[in-house]
Amino acid sequence: GKLSASVVHEINNPIAGILNLLKLIQRIMDEGSVGEKETEQFKQYIHLMDTETRRISRIVSNLLAFSRQSKVTVGHVNLNRIIEKTLFLNANLLKINNIKVKKTLDPDLPDVMGSEDQFQQVLMNIISNAAEAMEGPGGALKISTRHSLSNNSVVVKVQDSGVGISSENQKKLFEPFFTTKKKGKGVGLGLSVVYGIIEAYGGAIQVDSEVGEGTTFSVEIPLNQ
Ligand code: ADP
Ligand code: MG
Repeated sequence: GKLSASVVHEINNPIAGILNLLKLIQRIMDEGSVGEKETEQFKQYIHLMDTETRRISRIVSNLLAFSRQSKVTVGHVNLNRIIEKTLFLNANLLKINNIKVKKTLDPDLPDVMGSEDQFQQVLMNIISNAAEAMEGPGGALKISTRHSLSNNSVVVKVQDSGVGISSENQKKLFEPFFTTKKKGKGVGLGLSVVYGIIEAYGGAIQVDSEVGEGTTFSVEIPLNQ
């Protein structure tokens, strides 16, 4: 309920903004000839509409990934392989941001049962956040997997040496639309999607972070489902 209320709000705002700009452009055009000054204005409006449309598009694609949950194909998934794939997909982003990757993957990691797409979504969101947290100065990304015999689960840890998260923000991290990123960059759905997927598997996610030091996300997926 909370999610759909905020989705309506978050999508309605940019749509209202775009409509206003369109009306404004129409009025200016109705008033007469369009000169240099008006053209400059239009360029600005178009840029704004572009940003806002991209924002809606990002929100919608995140939500689509989330709602796929009900009709997913389920099978054996090796999380080491998903990590390799996600790192490959992010290779360019990691390279241009000068981020060193260190993997410690358990070679005997048992498969989890579930949807490959969903696990990839989880890792993609966590890894891209880590990369974004180290944007600029670069840093180290450490990824490990292990089989917890005591909990009969698989544990994935993603550690970055980025900006870190204040304890106040740590409380809001998984809320839909919580973001500290610039408008047009973050929409704040990544971790809420992650949370929803992990919860659906009876798993758990934990965050450990220190401002200026870095952040570690631990994801635990139970093996007996
Ligand atoms: P978005 O990335 O669109 O902002 P997310 O739900 O993925 O939305 O993340 C929400 C917020 O959590 C981010 O804006 C950021 O403030 C914080 N965050 C998430 N992961 C990290 C990280 N690894 N390091 C620092 N901050 C993080
Ligand atoms: Mg994100």
